[in-house]
Amino acid sequence: MAAKSTSKTPRRTNQSLSHLLRLPAGRVDLSRLDTAATHGYPGKGKDDAAALTAALAPQISDLQERLFANGRAAPDTAKRVLVLLQGMDTSGKGGVIRHAMGMVDPQGIQLTSFKAPTVEERQHHYLWRIEKALPSPGMIGIFDRSQYEDVLVVRVEQLVPVSEWSKRYDEINALEKQITDEGTTVIKCFLNVSFEEQKARLAARLASPDKYWKYNPKDIDARAKWPAYQQAYADALERCNTDYAPWFVIPADRKWYRNWAVAQLLREHLVGMDLGWPEATFDVAAEKARVAKA
Ligand code: AMP
Ligand code: MG
Repeated sequence: MAAKSTSKTPRRTNQSLSHLLRLPAGRVDLSRLDTAATHGYPGKGKDDAAALTAALAPQISDLQERLFANGRAAPDTAKRVLVLLQGMDTSGKGGVIRHAMGMVDPQGIQLTSFKAPTVEERQHHYLWRIEKALPSPGMIGIFDRSQYEDVLVVRVEQLVPVSEWSKRYDEINALEKQITDEGTTVIKCFLNVSFEEQKARLAARLASPDKYWKYNPKDIDARAKWPAYQQAYADALERCNTDYAPWFVIPADRKWYRNWAVAQLLREHLVGMDLGWPEATFDVAAEKARVAKA
């Protein structure tokens, strides 16, 4: 475990990154969101990003350990965190998991990557696999893709009728209301990459054999439907941007900013949870005496 720190950072102030990246309520027009912005970044640029991101690790680690400890000590009342990552191919969901979430003790993480539903998953309601993957008490869940695929790829590829997917925004909101009421802090991150940057990243995947494994020829089919995906994203962001589970839009054209930003968002949310250490469930003085004699 990393160093202990108890710095008392204010809750969401106007200066917080959570405030800067929070999607404002109302109409969403993705064309107005700058994919290369570095809102709130405290450094000069790429050169100091690794150090600034690493500097967040001690506090994230301390707070995560408190969260985990409470999950062990009092599972019925312990809080949970869910970091949900959405974005087009190459937007960097994997990079965020490696660089930002990778700073957290793996024992406290429940990572789930949602692919096209399996035969078994298809026999259930679309939220079945989501509910199964929700974080346990004291845990940080990470969703690499999520329930939102069921109003994104499903909508664009017309995998179910309009009458079916159009009901899902309300259903997703209801699920998120339920889990936030039950003590889960939900951090929904839309990694917003530009059409041009996606092309560059796809080309980079084809330029060296150590990146071939990341390349999926089907990604080009999705790219060809970029406007339809942008519309589907805009609607999902707009309709599911609630007070209890708001969307954060992360400009994702600069990988170093994206990784720092998600780590910083996680830090701010953990700070806002006011996590203390669980009380001893035994007589500390008596146990000290017993250990002394043991
Ligand atoms: P990747 O994240 O690159 O491993 O790709 C996962 C693929 O699974 C993407 O093409 C997603 O669009 C697809 N996928 C995820 N969830 C669903 C879903 N509910 N229905 C259909 N396809 C999905
Ligand atoms: Mg992919």
